Amino acid sequence: MAGIVSVAVPVPALDVLTYRWPDDAPAPVAGARVDVPLGPRRLTGIVVDAAPAQPEPSMKLREVTQVRDAAPFVPASLLALTAWVADYYLAGPGDVLASALPPRVLTGDATTFKRRRVIVITALGLGAAAAIATDPPVTPPAEAAPASRPLGAKQREALTALAGVPAGLPAAVLTARGIGAATVSRLVQLGFAVVRHENVSRDPFAAHAAEGVDFAVVPSFTAEQQAALDVLGPLADAGRFHTALLKGVTGSGKTEIYLALADRVRQQGRQALLLVPEIALTPALAGRVRARFGDRVAIQHSGLSTGERHDQWHRVRQGEVDVVVGTRSAVFAPLERVGLIVVDEEHDGSYKQDEAPRYHGRDVAIVRGHQQDALVVLGSATPSLESFHNATRGRYTLVTLDRRVADRPLAEVRVVNMRDEWADTGTDVSLSRPLLDGIAARLTRGEQALILLNRRGVSTAVLCRQCGRTLECPHCSVAMTVHGHGARAHARCHYCDHRDRVPTACPECAAPYLEHLGVGTERIEQDLRERFPEARIGRVDRDTVATRGSLTALLGRFARRELDLLVGTQMIAKGHDFPAVTLVGVVSADVGLGLPDFRAAERTFQLITQVVGRAGRGERAGEAVVQTFFPTHYAVKCGCAQDYATFAARELEFRTALRYPPITALVNVVVRGATAEQAMTDAGTLARHVARDTDGKAIAILGPAPAPLAKLRGEHRAQFFVKGGDRAAMRAAVRGALAAAPALARRAVVDVDPVSML
Ligand code: ADP
Ligand code: ZN
Repeated sequence: MAGIVSVAVPVPALDVLTYRWPDDAPAPVAGARVDVPLGPRRLTGIVVDAAPAQPEPSMKLREVTQVRDAAPFVPASLLALTAWVADYYLAGPGDVLASALPPRVLTGDATTFKRRRVIVITALGLGAAAAIATDPPVTPPAEAAPASRPLGAKQREALTALAGVPAGLPAAVLTARGIGAATVSRLVQLGFAVVRHENVSRDPFAAHAAEGVDFAVVPSFTAEQQAALDVLGPLADAGRFHTALLKGVTGSGKTEIYLALADRVRQQGRQALLLVPEIALTPALAGRVRARFGDRVAIQHSGLSTGERHDQWHRVRQGEVDVVVGTRSAVFAPLERVGLIVVDEEHDGSYKQDEAPRYHGRDVAIVRGHQQDALVVLGSATPSLESFHNATRGRYTLVTLDRRVADRPLAEVRVVNMRDEWADTGTDVSLSRPLLDGIAARLTRGEQALILLNRRGVSTAVLCRQCGRTLECPHCSVAMTVHGHGARAHARCHYCDHRDRVPTACPECAAPYLEHLGVGTERIEQDLRERFPEARIGRVDRDTVATRGSLTALLGRFARRELDLLVGTQMIAKGHDFPAVTLVGVVSADVGLGLPDFRAAERTFQLITQVVGRAGRGERAGEAVVQTFFPTHYAVKCGCAQDYATFAARELEFRTALRYPPITALVNVVVRGATAEQAMTDAGTLARHVARDTDGKAIAILGPAPAPLAKLRGEHRAQFFVKGGDRAAMRAAVRGALAAAPALARRAVVDVDPVSML
């Protein structure tokens, strides 16, 4: 009987496939890469099962054409985790593996991403030391050198540099110090240095390691931190699965607790995984972790180059690493002995991947903790309702930090009702008088301010005052945003990037009464420049930080106080610690409240709380100015007061009344079609299949209805929701519906536990 294997191939939504291997060849192991034929193509896949059940004898199986690994390339623990993800999120197992592995392992020629080789120069002990120590220059001792000329200045400089580094310095470092190849080769000739070739990993955060505070020093813990560690430490030691929610206001010292726990598991020979939401946050945290744990740290996030990601992955895979820091996909880091998984800012929406496989990094982290007997710590100042609910029900251990380190006061919050402001100043005003006054005061005192606004562009809609239409993208059902000014002004779609001229007359009724509504970050930057011509202003949004590293560069300039004001979207609201910031302005705190999404209030609350927490992280007290049209909305009020408990209670009431998560679970199915009718009909067909399967169970189907984004990139979209308490039954019903209508399945997007309703 021929041997068979199950292989996951990176083809969207495709289940595992069964192949034979040649009778005379040894069996491939689970986790090995294999090349297999699929239709006319040849693909690289991963063996997920080396001894699957025998298929029907009538099935004609094709043969594995090449086995690339004798040992598992993907460790067994990762196979188990990705299998769970594929099953839970109704995703293809090959898709999941492809996003769990470094780029192009499965879809391209990964062999081009070998580790880089560098030339390392090392000083040779005694002779070198003597040569440096003696001034004026000596002639090298006869046995060490064939020549007897004194060392030149450059040569001595090179030796001095090398003498302090027993492991040697890469040639590039010497070149950067003005020491060229000629100097080095002369030193080698003289017997003072040796050159060797070494494989090194590109170190993506070498540049950050030296900046800022000395994080290598472990502070003595505050009483609250110690109390938290007294609970979490033993849980980390236990070597059993457990989940804890660490709820602590910004600046209460959560990160120090993560580091202490990581150190603890590391000393027991296990490893720690630290997840953070944004790439922008990673360099700072990575530098901090690096300062504490030295070289045995790896960083993984999607902003790295392909080569860097390969290097980091292989270092982790080979057990060279104790601590991994990374964003969402780092939850798949190939660590074999994980003892601790931290999900920092666990409430953050960026943990949810918005393309297939649509997994939630936090939830995968918890499953991974379960599979590998690890402690999972979810940290946040504003926990998601899901996690908080689990904690209050006793499923997670709740640990709270209520005070900031050194009892730094929380920022003083001033709420500005923009309706009143507009009544006095006119509706053309984007920055209120209290905010402008606050900024002026900071500039005078040489302090810094952050100005936050969650919209890009100059204006966010163009409205015709005669016929009432807004300028829409021809391919998507969204308003066009105006960017740039003068000759560079243009209208842009934020979904498909369609660009057009800014019309001067209405395209519908030809009336010349076009009004630009809604301000974006570009407009705020312009307003600030006009108002404060002497101020040094930076802007952080997706338009200014499109390239890799530009965000870090901008934040670095702000941290070095080369900028006075930083305007930006939520990218600036998170994590960063800028001690000289004493004012944070929120231009329109409530833009999100109008969105048709049951999490709108939760997001608004989180944003305001996080932003207010940014002010006054240093010695000086901070102030926050929050501009809003809904000063009495509970999300705004609780956010300004940093009152999580009241918000959570109120919000949970609302969710319970309307039976939304975390009280129930949701699955969202969006179906695309050439016309709106087609999309609706097809969504209806799928919904009926689901309904048939869930009949008699406490599962509701909402819709179909046009999706909030009814048209996207020229395709029409209709959607329905499956809502209920029995997740397994819900998933089974959706899976059954997709199998029953394969043609529709190809045009359907399934999102289990959706985070964004738009
Ligand atoms: P969080 O992660 O809760 O925002 P951090 O751990 O970043 O808080 O701590 C906030 C600031 O306080 C950091 O600058 C950190 O270095 C410092 N810090 C944390 N714990 C202590 C401590 N026990 N003693 C002194 N400084 C501390
Ligand atoms: Zn568009």
